[in-house]
Amino acid sequence: MSTAPEIAGWNHTYSGKVRDLYAPASGDDDRMLVVASDRVSAFDHVLEPGIPGKGALLTRLSNWWFSQLADVPNHLAGEPPVEVAERAMLVRSLDMLPIECVVRGYITGSGWLEYQESGTVCGIALPEGLQNGDKLPEPIYTPAYKAPLGEHDENISYEKSVELVGEARAAELRDASLAIYRRAAELAEAKGLILADTKFEFGTDEDGVLRLADEVLTSDSSRYWDLASWQNGSTPAERMASFDKQIVRDWLAANWDKQGTPPELPQDIIDRTVARYEELLTRLGA
Ligand code: ATP
Ligand code: MG
Repeated sequence: MSTAPEIAGWNHTYSGKVRDLYAPASGDDDRMLVVASDRVSAFDHVLEPGIPGKGALLTRLSNWWFSQLADVPNHLAGEPPVEVAERAMLVRSLDMLPIECVVRGYITGSGWLEYQESGTVCGIALPEGLQNGDKLPEPIYTPAYKAPLGEHDENISYEKSVELVGEARAAELRDASLAIYRRAAELAEAKGLILADTKFEFGTDEDGVLRLADEVLTSDSSRYWDLASWQNGSTPAERMASFDKQIVRDWLAANWDKQGTPPELPQDIIDRTVARYEELLTRLGA
């Protein structure tokens, strides 16, 4: 696994599966540096090898979305140090809410699995007869509890999110997530892309203001499909021609029984993933 780079004036404090976090060496605790590595995770495992250039691509995409959503308060706090400029964000250090704010406009992935068993997604009843990849009548908010490191995130009901953060904040998270999803999906569609689903993370600043944090609408945190393929395809694979980590997930699901260490990603999967991530940025104009 790649190690966190040394950055003058910053102390490495934490590494997530994909990002390395730093605090100012000066001891200020109101800002931090979030450096996106080339690591790729799937099914809660960091895979080998990394995907060259991925950290920079994801950072560019996040920054572009933050600029498209300029009226939504976010965590950006200026220019990162030059040596990591391409893949770092200088951000306000927020009090993160322990909820992954997932919005789904289409049914697939874990939502599809649950729907086949119970006709619901995260407890929300859906119309009968949906196929994998179908559009939902309305986008739905399906929060997950952000588990401490090493544990699996867990889908929760809206009521459970109220228990975790209180009624007012839970409603604010839901409404903000749905509103941002709708805007982003519309913008993506104008560029021939479907934003099938995505996950946001929010935190609060010292004034209690809710701010959009972490990565935003990236190909790690979202599913993007080609609109024309979705309209014309006849199999699920054709309909969900993806610009995201699904390529990696699908390969891994077919080549690993989820026991022990995952196998190394083959070069052609890495190459295809980079090409699709790059095409997404080009299409969006990011
Ligand atoms: P994965 O994305 O693979 O699930 P991860 O979520 O464990 O991994 P990373 O994305 O690698 O973690 O690391 C980013 C971490 O930084 C997350 O824990 C995220 O909640 C946190 N974070 C993002 N923005 C801020 C912020 N402005 N203030 C405080 N913490 C933040
Ligand atoms: Mg993350």
